[in-house]
Amino acid sequence: MTATIALTPEKRLRTGRSVWSDTPHPQLKTHALRRPLQCDVAIVGAGISGAFMAEALSRHYGRVVVLDRRAPAMGSTHASTAMLQYEIDTPLTELSDMIGHPKAARAWRRSFAATQGLIRLVRDEKIPCGFEDRSALYLAGDEMGGRGMEKEARARRRAGLDCEFLSGRELKARYGIARTGAIFSDRVAVADPVALARGLLRRARARGAKIFAPCEVHDVMGAARGVMLDAGGWFVEAKAAVFCTGYEVLKGLPDQHTEITSSWAAATAPHADYPAWLDQTLVWEAASPYLYLRTGAQGQLIVGGEDADLDSPSYRAGTLGLKAKKLAQKTSRLLPGLKPKWTHVWAGAFGESSDGLPIIGAVPGMPHCFAVMGFGGNGTVYSMLAAQLMPGLLKGRPAKDAELFAFRT
Ligand SMILES: Cc1cc2nc3c(=O)[nH]c(=O)nc-3n(C[C@H](O)[C@H](O)[C@H](O)COP(=O)(O)OP(=O)(O)OC[C@H]3O[C@@H](n4cnc5c(N)ncnc54)[C@H](O)[C@@H]3O)c2cc1C
Repeated sequence: MTATIALTPEKRLRTGRSVWSDTPHPQLKTHALRRPLQCDVAIVGAGISGAFMAEALSRHYGRVVVLDRRAPAMGSTHASTAMLQYEIDTPLTELSDMIGHPKAARAWRRSFAATQGLIRLVRDEKIPCGFEDRSALYLAGDEMGGRGMEKEARARRRAGLDCEFLSGRELKARYGIARTGAIFSDRVAVADPVALARGLLRRARARGAKIFAPCEVHDVMGAARGVMLDAGGWFVEAKAAVFCTGYEVLKGLPDQHTEITSSWAAATAPHADYPAWLDQTLVWEAASPYLYLRTGAQGQLIVGGEDADLDSPSYRAGTLGLKAKKLAQKTSRLLPGLKPKWTHVWAGAFGESSDGLPIIGAVPGMPHCFAVMGFGGNGTVYSMLAAQLMPGLLKGRPAKDAELFAFRT
């Protein structure tokens, strides 16, 4: 007997207790699949990517179906610290060296536009998700010093992205942080990722989308008018399928120079001790591994980073204590006087692409199948970007810039 390869591998995506586990999230009504179905679009995955996708596509199609082997937002979305920023992991100057300045500038502008679209959507739809506006402070570190930051800030402004370079002296005076420089930018946000995903799915459901969970998709086949998904005995026939399966990547894809790694995070109890400006500012750094900080709606200090190039649930679990200690030490070093006491420590699978850009588009060799791989520290914004591009891709009329994020063949 030959073993069958799963359509997407089932992984232990998270370990530990994330800060969102104690937040009461109203349950989202889902269905059990008990009959064959026909629909316009089937979305596989009900994490943040599937949620943005369902919200967007339910505006265009009457019959949208979402299928997930877990409950909605219980995959890697539950591990996210939900910093909603447009800054791409690969600085604009570095991305320009890789793909040329015009394309790099377009990718950065598109990420900015997706962030603004996300902020507008949450406001217009009044999605209750601990959403708060923020500025961002990107600190010089071992991957880019003050001079590099100054050059990066100039490149961003030339690309039409407003930002301010802070010298080491200005940074110290304004924030008490000792680094050789930083870039200050605006118009970013933070949220509760579980509430955001479920809120988006609720909006999609109100427009007629149906959410089936737990419901695993085992296989995908060509059909007369699209694709047929094998969902454990029942078949879902769709004109198109969109795979939003996160770090459980679809089998058989051509190599996209992506890597699944690990990332850790920790949070304090509410009303933690931290400088008041942190409530308006998220902080990250040009370092490897990097540290980042944000605050929560109840005044928790939430930090993350310490990434490792290894996708191993047992490694993630076995190093929780050590990584928590390192995150506390690094936080104290960055903000002297702060001694955070973690009440929550967790880790999860994380994804990176070699250029920091997501992969969004038609899957090579699989007609009527599309995939979203929003890899990178701004994965949530990439989920929004995918939702902005997908209606055009499904109609065979890709929007401007879609080719920047298509599968690399
Ligand atoms: C510690 C940590 C901190 C992070 N912080 C941030 C941050 O601050 N900002 C940010 O933007 N991003 C952050 N991220 C990244 C972010 O978590 C991811 O980009 C995001 O969660 C990916 O969402 P997704 O919907 O693609 O994946 P998921 O949430 O994993 O959803 C995919 C879903 O697909 C389902 N699925 C897979 N295969 C099948 C199948 N065959 N059949 C049915 N269902 C299937 C899974 O069950 C899962 O629910 C962080 C990640 C970690 C680990």
